[in-house]
Amino acid sequence: TIELRNLVKSYGKVDVIHGIDLQVADGEFVVFVGPSGCGKSTTLRMIAGLEEVSGGQILIGGDVVNELDPKSRNIAMVFQNYAIYPHLTVRQNIAFGLYTSRLDKAAKAARVEEAGRALELTHLLDRRPSALSGGQRQRVAIGRAMVRSPVAFLFDEPLSNLDAQLRSQMRIEIKALHQRLGTTIAYVTHDQVEAMTMADRIVVMKDGHILQQGAPMQIYDSPVDVFTARFIGTPS
Ligand code: ATP
Ligand code: MG
Repeated sequence: TIELRNLVKSYGKVDVIHGIDLQVADGEFVVFVGPSGCGKSTTLRMIAGLEEVSGGQILIGGDVVNELDPKSRNIAMVFQNYAIYPHLTVRQNIAFGLYTSRLDKAAKAARVEEAGRALELTHLLDRRPSALSGGQRQRVAIGRAMVRSPVAFLFDEPLSNLDAQLRSQMRIEIKALHQRLGTTIAYVTHDQVEAMTMADRIVVMKDGHILQQGAPMQIYDSPVDVFTARFIGTPS
C-alpha cells in the first residue's frame, strides 16, 4: 500500500501540492490525470523520493518513508525520456538495474532472463538500443526497473514519445504486465484512452489537489468539472 497523508509541496513560498490524501492498494493501477502544471509529476517524484516533502507523510507498506532515500524505498520510476545506455546491450541495460544489488551473479542473470521473458525481449538481449524500436526500448527501461522487484511502479507519461501504434501496443503490454505481476502502479498520462483502459481508479488533479477520483466509468458518467468532462468525454 502507498499512502499519502496531507502531502504538501512548496517551492519557496509557492505551494504546488496542497495537502493530498490518497491510498493506493496493493496491486491497484491508479492513473493520475489533470491539466499541465497541476502537480502530477511532483506527486510521483515525492513518492519515489526524488523530491523532498514539504509537509505531510508518505507511507509505503505502512511505514513512513519521508526520510528514506530513493533506493531504500524499493519503488521503480519510469519516465517519459527513459534513459537507456546506447553502448550497452539490452541484457546489460536491464542488468544495470541490479548494479547495487547484493544478489550473486547467477541470481542476477536469472532475474534478467526472467524480465526479458516477461517483456518479450528474450530474442533481443544481445542487441544494442540503436537496433530497437521505440516500444522495445521502452520495454528495456521497464525491464531495468523490474529486475529490482519493486513494490510499485511509477510511470510518468511513459508512452508520450511513441507513435500511435506503439502506444496502443505498449498500453496492452503494460496492462498485461500489471496483471501478471500484480504490482501496484501509479501512472500519469494526458491520454484519455490510457486512463480509461488501464486504470482501476482515475485520480483527477487540479491546482495541486485531488478534484475527483473513481473508477473510469464513474468519472465518465459524472465528471465534476469541464476539464474532466472534456478529458474523458472527447475521443482523441
Ligand atoms: P505536466 O502535465 O505539464 O507534466 P504536472 O502536473 O506534472 O504537469 P508538475 O511538474 O508536478 O506538473 O508541476 C507542478 C507545479 O510545480 C507547476 O506549477 C510547476 O511549475 C511547479 N514546479 C515544478 N518543479 C518546480 C521547481 N523545481 N521549482 C519551482 N516550481 C516547480
Ligand atoms: Mg508532469
